[in-house]
Formats: sequence, structure tokens, C-alpha cells
Amino acid sequence: MGIIHSKTTTFMKDSKLRSIAIVGGGIAGWMSAAILSRFLQTQDIDICLIEGGEDCDSIAMYHAALPQLQTLHETLGIDEREFLKFTRGGFKLGIQFCQWNREGGQYFHGFGGFGMPIEGVSPHHCWLKLKSFGDDIALGDYSLASVTAQLGNFSINTKNSRALLEHGFHFDPQRYVEFLRLYAQARGVRCLAGKVVDVKLSRKNGFIQTLQLKSGQAVQADFFIDCSGFRASIIEQALATGYQSWSHWLPADRAVSWSSNACEDNFLPYTKVTALPYGWQWRIPLQQSTVNGLVYSSHYLSDAAAADYLQQELNGKALGSPRFSQFVAGHRKRFWNKNCLAIGFAAAFLEPLECSGIELIQNGVLRLLQLFPDKRCDLALSAEYNRKTLEEVCRVRDLIVLHYATCAIHSELWQYCKHMILPPELERKLKVFASSGHVPLHREDFFQEPSWVCVLVGQNIVPKRYEPSIENIHPNTLRAFMLKRRAEISAIARNQPSHAAFVGQYCSV
Ligand SMILES: Cc1cc2nc3c(=O)[nH]c(=O)nc-3n(C[C@H](O)[C@H](O)[C@H](O)COP(=O)(O)OP(=O)(O)OC[C@H]3O[C@@H](n4cnc5c(N)ncnc54)[C@H](O)[C@@H]3O)c2cc1C
Repeated sequence: MGIIHSKTTTFMKDSKLRSIAIVGGGIAGWMSAAILSRFLQTQDIDICLIEGGEDCDSIAMYHAALPQLQTLHETLGIDEREFLKFTRGGFKLGIQFCQWNREGGQYFHGFGGFGMPIEGVSPHHCWLKLKSFGDDIALGDYSLASVTAQLGNFSINTKNSRALLEHGFHFDPQRYVEFLRLYAQARGVRCLAGKVVDVKLSRKNGFIQTLQLKSGQAVQADFFIDCSGFRASIIEQALATGYQSWSHWLPADRAVSWSSNACEDNFLPYTKVTALPYGWQWRIPLQQSTVNGLVYSSHYLSDAAAADYLQQELNGKALGSPRFSQFVAGHRKRFWNKNCLAIGFAAAFLEPLECSGIELIQNGVLRLLQLFPDKRCDLALSAEYNRKTLEEVCRVRDLIVLHYATCAIHSELWQYCKHMILPPELERKLKVFASSGHVPLHREDFFQEPSWVCVLVGQNIVPKRYEPSIENIHPNTLRAFMLKRRAEISAIARNQPSHAAFVGQYCSV
């Protein structure tokens, strides 16, 4: 028995991954480096990040993140105050959608849901029951995050047994990348400056062997993570993996962002997203500036007209000049191909309507840790990785396509979207919800039921039916209970400082 054991051990030792090279110094690159440096620090694996610097640009338009980033920071041992101070950021309780459901209309996708279940049933069913009896109270009145955000208030110790307040963040993207770089380098990640200009593949199995930098330096590693953005310099340029476009469902292909100086009254704890005839506009308040942006289809609007429109919309003095980016919604046909894994834009692009980019990045890296390979990169692991990641990206896509397919604005773009054939999975979700009030979810769904209900009801999809088990609650009893809950939520929300005041004492620059 001894001999076999030592042979197996030697083989396992030899096939153990010893080095990882990450290409790209954007958010995907440094978040990957930070997470891997935290979880692999005892594994004696060399991690180096190659960043192209001036030679290659980084989009860096992501100023908002979902509540899951808070969980990641806790896992990485990152102090929230330090993070917000360093990134000049603030808190995000949700997204206000304006003009998406009707002229002058608005609704909130608030984080954290509608509070505790009632008789074991999600509160939106109770709201549906009372609506069927003619009540006309907004569903958002049962979301503490939505009510608090619309008052411009915030604090993080407002928890009671009945209401839950989850939060994401707004921050300066370049400062956040710098924050993650410092974190990763403090845990041993090496950084090489240089543009990857060539990739050598093994003749035996087509695996990547060496990256050639513009400087002539060669970088060898056992495993490569392509975080080179839309360029996809490794997974596409070298491995020709292929890209599946979703532009027939998400026709926007341009974005422009422009910062303006901040103003106190506008330092609100939410992102504002307004539908427009040729796309949509976002506004994100930071401590020292406000970020304004437009996502649009170049088929309906030129870049010059987009910049002109945005300039008029700036709610303060313009800072710097507008920054443009172009993209095609879709995903790499394999996120993990041979010994190369794509993360960030190199893996997939979904426009930031529900600001999902950073969570897809963190989930992509955490999924690699769950399916961590050795040098052989077992196909079973990459296949499982690709299956799960595609499932997740499709589910995020569907929530964004739901906005597109139900936007109330009468313009060529939105008329096209209104008549497009929906992804079958979304079609199924809409049918089940319309006839039961339930949202069928998958394991890989990172938007949970309350988020779907906020957007479905917000976009005027209100089911006629609700969970039958609450039929036995008399409408007057239910109404009294719901009104009491609504009053409690309103009182908690009012009893908080303004977001600006809270940030001022908690993490101001
Ligand atoms: C308008 C807009 C707004 C967005 N807003 C949000 C948001 O609010 N929240 C959110 O979660 N997501 C948002 N996203 C998505 C988010 O921006 C992306 O998920 C994220 O930027 C992807 O970053 P990345 O690191 O993959 O790419 P990039 O930021 O493009 O970085 C690529 C890096 O690779 C380097 N590089 C490229 N080629 C080479 C090479 N050959 N050799 C060496 N280095 C190389 C570049 O220098 C750069 O550092 C937004 C996207 C857009 C377009």
C-alpha cells in the first residue's frame, strides 16, 4: 500500500496548481486578485497580475454595487468605513425607475424585500389580496429600503423584528480598484506592468503556456484569468472561444458618463434611472461628485447628441469631459476554456440597469474557488463552471430584458423591444407570476423574489391571483395588519438621519 500512496501523493503534488497569472488591472483583475490572495494565501500559489496601463484603457464606469458586496467585504475582512472613506462613497438602498412604467411614473426596486412573511406567505400576496378588494396602497410602502430611500434617510442600525434594511454602495471606481490593489498586494500578489501582445500555446493540448509582454518579458503560469475587458486578449484573441450576442434582446450598444460637482441635497441613498426614447439615463451621487450617464442605442442616437443631452442634464458644474464606451450585450461561449478563465467584461456584458457587473465578477471568482483545478484543468470542472455561470448570467439578463420589453415609452427603440420574442425562461416566469403571484426561481438566480416582484409590479404586471392560503384571513383583519406594518415602516424610516448626515459622521472624506 505504501508505494502506491507515495506515487499518488507525488502525482497530486506535481499536478497541484503553483501559479496564476491575471491579465488586466480593472475591477475584474484586482477583485480576482484580492479574493484569491485571501483564500489561497496558505496554498503556496504564486499570483501575479499584469496590467496594460496606458496601453490599454479600462472602462471604469461602475459606481454602484449590490448588497452582496457587503458580504464579500466581510469575508475579506474589509472595514466598511475605510472602504467608503477611501472610495468617497455612500450607501445604496435601491434603484428608482422613472418613466419606465408610464409618463411621469416612478417606482422603486428597494433592497431587502417587504419584511417578514405573513402566515408563512410573502407579504406581496397580502398586498395583491387587498388590491383585489380595491385598496390602492403602493407595494413600495411595505419596503423599508424604498420608504427610507425616498425620504433621503439612512442608517445601518435600524433593524427590528419585522423590517429588514439591506444596502449596497456607491463609490468612485478608480479609487475602489486602487483599494483592492493595496489589499491584494499586501497579501503577496505581484503586479507586472505591461501589455500582453502575444500568447504561446502548448502544441500538446492547446493550453496557454506563456504570455509575451510588449516589453519582451515572458510570463509563464499554470492557470490564466483573463480580465482584459472587452478586448478578451486571452480567452478570445488567443483561444478563439467565441461570443454569443444578445443584442436582439438588449439593443443598447453605447454609454457615456460625465461627472459634475456634488450637491448636498442630492446626496441620496439610491441610483436614479430614467427611461428615454433611445435608452436610459442614470444619476449616482458620491461624496464629492455626482455621476451622470446615458446608455443608448447608436441606431437611434449619435455620440455627439448623447453628450449634448447629458451636458444639459448635469445637475452641477461639469467635471472633466464625457467618457464613452461601446459594447455588445452577450457572453463568451465558454467562460472557462482549457487553462484560462474569463472574468468581467472578458466573460460577459450586461448593461448596468440593475448594476449586476461587480456581483457577477465576485461570484465568478468564488465559483472558481469552489471548482478549483489542478494543472490538468479537468473538463468536468470547467463544464460545471460554464453551466452554472451561464445560468446565472441568463437570469440577470432576464430581469434587464423584462425592463426593456415592458418600457412604456412610445419610441422606435421601445416599440421594437415591446414586440421582441422573449427568452423562454423569462416568458415562463411572466406566465407563472401573472397567474399565481409567485416568481419561479432557480438556484443561480441572484435577484431574489422581492426584486422580481418590485420590477414586475413596477412595470404594471399585476397578477389577479395570490397565494390561496391567505384566503381565510378576513380582508379587514388583513388590512388592519398591513396598515399597522406600513405605519411601523414609515415611522422607522422617518426616525433616521439624512443619508448625507449619516455619511458625514460615519465615513466622510
Ligand atoms: C456604462 C457602464 C456602467 C456600469 N455601471 C456599473 C455599476 O454601476 N455597477 C456594476 O456592478 N457594474 C457596472 N458596469 C459593469 C462594470 O463596469 C463591469 O463589470 C466592469 O467594469 C468590468 O471590468 P473589467 O475589469 O472586466 O474591464 P475593464 O475595466 O475594461 O478593465 C480591463 C483591464 O484590462 C487591461 N488590459 C486590456 N488588454 C490588456 C492586455 N493585452 N494586456 C494587459 N492588460 C490589458 C486594461 O488596461 C484594463 O485595466 C457598468 C458598465 C458600463 C459599460
